[in-house]
Amino acid sequence: MTKAAIIGAGIGGIATAVRLAVKGYDVTVLEANNTFGGKMHEFWLGKYRFDAGPSLFTLPHLVDELFTLAGRDPKNYFTYTRLDPITHYFWPDGSHVKAYADAGKFAVEAEEQLGVPRQQVREALAKSDRLYQGTADTFLHKSLHRLDTYLSKDVLKAMGCLSDLGLTTTMHQENARQFSDPRFVQLLDRFATYNGSDPYQAPGTLNIIPHLEHNIGAFYPVGGIYAIAASLVKLAEELGVQFKYNEPVTRIITEEGKVTGVETSRGTYKADVVVSNMDVVPTYRRLLPNQPAPEKTLEQPRSSSALIFYWGIKKEFPQLHVHNIFFSQDYKKEFEHIFKYKTVSPDPTVYVNITSKAAPEDAPVGSENWFVMVNVPHNQGQDWQQLAADTRQAVLQKLSMMLHTDVAGLIEQEQVLDPLLIESRTSSFGGALYGSSSNNRMAAFLRHPNFSSKLRGLYFCGGSVHPGGGIPLCLLSAKIVADLTPAAAPANITQPH
Ligand code: FAD
Repeated sequence: MTKAAIIGAGIGGIATAVRLAVKGYDVTVLEANNTFGGKMHEFWLGKYRFDAGPSLFTLPHLVDELFTLAGRDPKNYFTYTRLDPITHYFWPDGSHVKAYADAGKFAVEAEEQLGVPRQQVREALAKSDRLYQGTADTFLHKSLHRLDTYLSKDVLKAMGCLSDLGLTTTMHQENARQFSDPRFVQLLDRFATYNGSDPYQAPGTLNIIPHLEHNIGAFYPVGGIYAIAASLVKLAEELGVQFKYNEPVTRIITEEGKVTGVETSRGTYKADVVVSNMDVVPTYRRLLPNQPAPEKTLEQPRSSSALIFYWGIKKEFPQLHVHNIFFSQDYKKEFEHIFKYKTVSPDPTVYVNITSKAAPEDAPVGSENWFVMVNVPHNQGQDWQQLAADTRQAVLQKLSMMLHTDVAGLIEQEQVLDPLLIESRTSSFGGALYGSSSNNRMAAFLRHPNFSSKLRGLYFCGGSVHPGGGIPLCLLSAKIVADLTPAAAPANITQPH
């Protein structure tokens, strides 16, 4: 049987394991940590449950598809509900908007709360839809580094919406051109942070992101985001995938231009195909130190990282929902702090995710589990202890003022996550959440491909490679890898090792 070794049990690695097992491979996943999930793990602080990393879930059909592919009914493994409202936005001037799941209702809300003409909101969402339909097949579902991608009819579709693509303008310029209300522009600009980018630098193409949330929907999995990884690991194990925990891969073994296996802290695994779900930078630097590395690709600027305060809050806030955003006064300055000065804005936009709104069992009665996140630069040697202390103060002051309540006095459990911890727990270079940023129009083409052009049998999946970071794109990276790998040899043919 053809053997595949997968380095890392992040969501990209797990999804690749499922796809390769379905394809007939004998799959082993080697994971450095004592459990699966990578950034997508969960933990408890007393009686409060937290999803440690991702909190927003879109395109759930990409998870369902894996169960269907394996001949299973997804509903027996993984269920989710559509969120409504999706997000509650708050501005420093006291205005607020509920982004309802129904695009028409959201447009009416934007008009009533901010005075933005509802028709303009509908048009912006329709444009986002058109962009997505025109480009997703080329830019997200296939390798951008194979000639056959450019010979397919999907490219014609993408060319058809070239004028809408916003390749020569920034996301902010596009949004400011469409809307005169700076608050609504800020709301749309925020979608750049969904892949760790800066709306004042990232191309207008990123305006496809609102389509996912506003036209298709935002969802909450039963059991939390962690249930995505847990249900897929269950499926993978049923398909015969072996997961080896506490077993970091230390080297990818190569022979005459091809990979032949991996070396771990415990031994050697022979493999015909090796898929790295480890961030691509340490994959080259640590696991392939003697191979030429694609320096230009590895030097691409990193995406943002995060400071997260996980708080058990002994009070309920009826005005809050699952996703809540408390905007900064000066968004441009906030992004300058992150990407130019490599520090944290003293007035950051604060994201508060409360899963106990959807799953009351995640917090004690009368309490809420707050995941409070601020976008920050990736680690470049900053003093994170000091930045976390300063940011905590700024966040508490802002939330207390905007919610008219002393939040500090309500915290009964607390834990903090910073870029250093993200890096040490998952090997993500600099603790960046989404690999490289999309802060220039060539970024999509400069991400590392899903295969090695130098070493036969070596593939890459996960947030640091094409098509990018975030749960849906990691799932798509697994699909592209499975499409690129050779057919598996039938079980009764002995492989040469
Ligand atoms: P990772 O999760 O990076 O996991 C890689 C795995 O490889 C780890 O388990 C690591 O231990 C293992 N590994 C590394 N090196 C080795 C080695 N040498 N040997 C063996 N194992 C190794 N995405 C969204 O879609 N929505 C969100 O709301 C969202 N919010 C986020 C908030 C935070 C705080 C963070 C951190 C991320 C967020 N993301 C979000 C991004 C999303 O979590 C990631 O893009 C995605 O989970 C990355 O998955 P991955 O497959 O790249 O692997």
